[in-house]
Amino acid sequence: MTPVFQASETIRWKSDDWAFVEQHKLLREIEPAGSANCSDCSRRYEVEYISDRAGNRNGYINCGDCGLERVDPDRLKQWEIDTNAMLRALFGGLKLSLEEQVPDYLWKVGRANWAGSSRRVWFVRSFPGHHRDAVEILKRNKKAIVFAPTQSGSTQWHEVAGSLVVPLDRVASTKAAKLVLNVEEIEGWVKDAWPTSKGSKNATPKRRGSRLNSIAKLRKALIEHVFNAREHAYSTKEITGTPRLLPRPQQKELAKQLDMTTSDVNRALKDDDAVELRIYWELALDVDQVMSFAGPITRGRKT
Ligand SMILES: [Zn+2]
Repeated sequence: MTPVFQASETIRWKSDDWAFVEQHKLLREIEPAGSANCSDCSRRYEVEYISDRAGNRNGYINCGDCGLERVDPDRLKQWEIDTNAMLRALFGGLKLSLEEQVPDYLWKVGRANWAGSSRRVWFVRSFPGHHRDAVEILKRNKKAIVFAPTQSGSTQWHEVAGSLVVPLDRVASTKAAKLVLNVEEIEGWVKDAWPTSKGSKNATPKRRGSRLNSIAKLRKALIEHVFNAREHAYSTKEITGTPRLLPRPQQKELAKQLDMTTSDVNRALKDDDAVELRIYWELALDVDQVMSFAGPITRGRKT
């Protein structure tokens, strides 16, 4: 379902935002709401329509405590987002080829040339929970730059699909009824996701192979660390009453332990295919998450 805005919400928008919304026709007015809140006690009632002598239909709510109240039709207005219009307004500067891939959830936007390479741009909304098909499509398009409306949505899509997912609320803003994309910020995200994309071509298959090998070794080492950390947390809790976090090994230490260079470790941690590894890497800093760790994500346990 696409998000719906009601009159009571839009009333608080800044006039700048509203001007922007109107200029780009971002919202589509839909059927008016069928219920309204009593102005006195805020309880919600169904609207009933009564025709006056001139034949005009007027809406009323009948509150048991506060009595009959006429409801201004403006109060019942509702709008839904026109996502295509929004994407055109947002990404007007790109080579657009808008295409809805999974209805209401996933759109192909076009191509962009950011941080020195041309990549496909996608837009995804909501959360991945019930959208396996959208997840599968994103997994097949890991070179693409994906945008999602919010930080929390971005994090979840990134975790399940492994793609770079940039939160729009961090890189876009409205200024004087215009939408501005912060390209510099976006390029920062792109460079973080593909550190080698500048200049040199993609890693050769051989280098790619050894990178995947490094990721696998690090994954194993981190899982082991998190298990040790869990034990440490429970035993310190038993002894002192407070669980203590076993310090996460530094990249330097991991490199030494696994017979790798520190920059191998660093690159592996940033790799596109290291989503699971990064989850353990972050998790190892949080004693609560360490304590509830139930084993690796991808083997033996359903994701
Ligand atoms: Zn009332």
